[in-house]
Amino acid sequence: MDTGGLDSGGFFEEGALVSVLTTQPLDRTLDYKAPEGGCFSGAFVEVPLGPRKVLGVVWGPGRGDFDRSKVRSVLRVLDVAPMREEMRAFLGRTADYTLTPMPAMLRLATRAPGLGDPPSMRKIYRLGVGEPDRMTDARARVLEVLRDYGGLAFTLKELAEMAGVTASVVKGLVKQGAVREEDSPRDLPYPHLDPDLPGKALTEDQSRAADSLRAGLRSGRYGTTLLKGVTGAGKTEVYLEAVAEALRMGRQALVLLPEIALTAEFLTRVEARFGARPAEWHSGATMTERRRVWRMVGQGEAQLVVGARSALFLPFRDLGLIIVDEEHDTSYKQEDGVLYNARDMAVLRAAICGARVVLASATPSLESWANADAGKYERLELTSRFGAAVLPQMQAIDMRAETMQPSSWISPSLRRAVIDRLGKGEQSLLFLNRRGYAPVTLCRACGQQIGCDHCDARMVEHRFLKRLMCHQCGETKPIPDTCPHCGAEGRLAPVGPGIERLAEEAAASFPEARLAVLSSDMFGTARALKQRIEAIAAGEADIVIGTQLVAKGHNFPLLTLVGVIDADLGLQGSDLRAAERTFQLMRQVAGRAGRAEKPGQALLQTFQPDHPVIRAILAGDEERFWRAEAAERQAAGVPPYGRMAGIILSGPEAGPVFDLGTAMARNDAPLRQIGAQVFGPAPAPIARVRGRHRVRLLVKAPKGAPLQEAIARWIAPLRLKGDLRLTVDIDPQSFM
Ligand code: ADP
Ligand code: ZN
Repeated sequence: MDTGGLDSGGFFEEGALVSVLTTQPLDRTLDYKAPEGGCFSGAFVEVPLGPRKVLGVVWGPGRGDFDRSKVRSVLRVLDVAPMREEMRAFLGRTADYTLTPMPAMLRLATRAPGLGDPPSMRKIYRLGVGEPDRMTDARARVLEVLRDYGGLAFTLKELAEMAGVTASVVKGLVKQGAVREEDSPRDLPYPHLDPDLPGKALTEDQSRAADSLRAGLRSGRYGTTLLKGVTGAGKTEVYLEAVAEALRMGRQALVLLPEIALTAEFLTRVEARFGARPAEWHSGATMTERRRVWRMVGQGEAQLVVGARSALFLPFRDLGLIIVDEEHDTSYKQEDGVLYNARDMAVLRAAICGARVVLASATPSLESWANADAGKYERLELTSRFGAAVLPQMQAIDMRAETMQPSSWISPSLRRAVIDRLGKGEQSLLFLNRRGYAPVTLCRACGQQIGCDHCDARMVEHRFLKRLMCHQCGETKPIPDTCPHCGAEGRLAPVGPGIERLAEEAAASFPEARLAVLSSDMFGTARALKQRIEAIAAGEADIVIGTQLVAKGHNFPLLTLVGVIDADLGLQGSDLRAAERTFQLMRQVAGRAGRAEKPGQALLQTFQPDHPVIRAILAGDEERFWRAEAAERQAAGVPPYGRMAGIILSGPEAGPVFDLGTAMARNDAPLRQIGAQVFGPAPAPIARVRGRHRVRLLVKAPKGAPLQEAIARWIAPLRLKGDLRLTVDIDPQSFM
């Protein structure tokens, strides 16, 4: 987009023409007159657009290509820190990289409501001077809490909770002057984190890694480090030392986590290490809290932010360190709206603002592994687990040799292993990466499967919810009595296992055991899930039955056996990362066992024990696996040794979507000029989602080729008619 000349740090007198980037879907900046008192470049402003007021940022001098007499004035400058030059550069470069229009980037960077509102007030409560007329137990408890905490103030809810009384008890004390009620601004700075509180005594391995990260920070220059170490090796302890160093230098730090469910445990660790809780940014945070984070980060009054991927777009004042924990996790790629990969954009942001990046993982992505191998990233390794914990022993269960009952998935060998743990009072995990009861519901009369009405996908039975669900669009419907195809009654049958069906089998096979099922669709809130996880960790279950959810970072100290129900599941399909994903997932899941003193064992049920990926997992020889995988990708010219982009076309009718795809494939001159090739159009693996037909094209280019620029030239002449939509996905992770 033409930004009309970006001016850095300039001031515009009242009435001067300025160009403003707004959050509205326009393909250019708009000219306005600077308001009374003038404004700086980068200022957040409110401007009139038609009948509305919209949010914008002063981007530079006006373009002057609009009838001057019709140019309107900026309505007001918002009372927030202006957007820094470095943030503008970051948004611009992310836009170029992901082929996203700038207004969408600005929306991503301002995802907190009421940014410009004056800080709202709230009531707080302190000890007053009066005496209550009549002292009750409840009243005494309130006064005691206030006295215990000296001069500190509480919100009504906090105070009532701590004293174990209702709000009306506090209110009663206010009336009598024993408690004082005051107004206080809501957007308070975050409590100070103290980097010099003592951390854990590090092992030699860990100290070496921490020293190296600290030295990197002190250099003040950009650099990325891949911190590799098995689950439980102490990666978190080590990178917390890097956070401490950033805080000592007065710079801000950001820790990205792949899942909200992991945040709670992490916040507790931060509090233990630095004496207070950091700012939190994720979808579970309230709107008021989001606004507080956004503002305080910009003012430098939040030293550390712990958050989900979009925290990368917060307006840090001096960001010195970004940690990407579990960097291989696919949830770092946003799959709707702006299609960006937070791991990669973290590296970009750090390069712009002279920060360090730490990519932590037990099973790095091949992309990061290759960057380390090529010397672009520094590589640090923690080789052993902390304390007595040792990595579990991994073995295959050859399913071809097991005698299985019909509709059962736990082999006799796995069953014996579970019974052995039950006898010793240890926990087992049965892992199956499939939600619901059964992946397929089949009519035994006509052989048809029940599909979604809006998608080309099968409906998955969820007994827990008593419904069939489409995992593509989320549509649910009751489980029918008769077949929707042939009308036969009572002939519908579930086929194949989902996590709920596995739980049913486990309940029948181990009637004495206490079972806990962990699947993402069974918990309404992150808090409920966290409580469940804590209860399990404390020993409230003998057998945990879980999906991918359990593979991520949680600690189950009593767990000594992991049984993978279908280790072959991820190997099917044509995704270029199928082998890598299976390898990572199996290693992560196996890593759940034996985290405390007791050694663990991982048993993988497989029909292909000789498959190279299964063999690599069992052998535990990661370097060999990466080298082999890298060689294959190199030969095929695919990422990270070649570039890729996915083009997804969709529309309500299949014909026009295909016609557009065919026309694009034919007019591929801009791609050929850079040595890129286009494949397709082909129906997407899920050819219809939410009633829209989907067609994919795949662009492959050599590693150094200017892919985005070529794609921009390729699609620029297209005029999308009617309801046709085109999405470009640079570095696609998903090929659905
Ligand atoms: P990772 O992030 O590599 O999975 P963690 O940092 O979570 O590993 O460490 C695993 C467990 O071991 C945690 O409970 C952590 O507190 C503990 N731990 C790691 N290193 C030390 C240490 N040097 N001293 C005490 N406890 C440690
Ligand atoms: Zn659907």
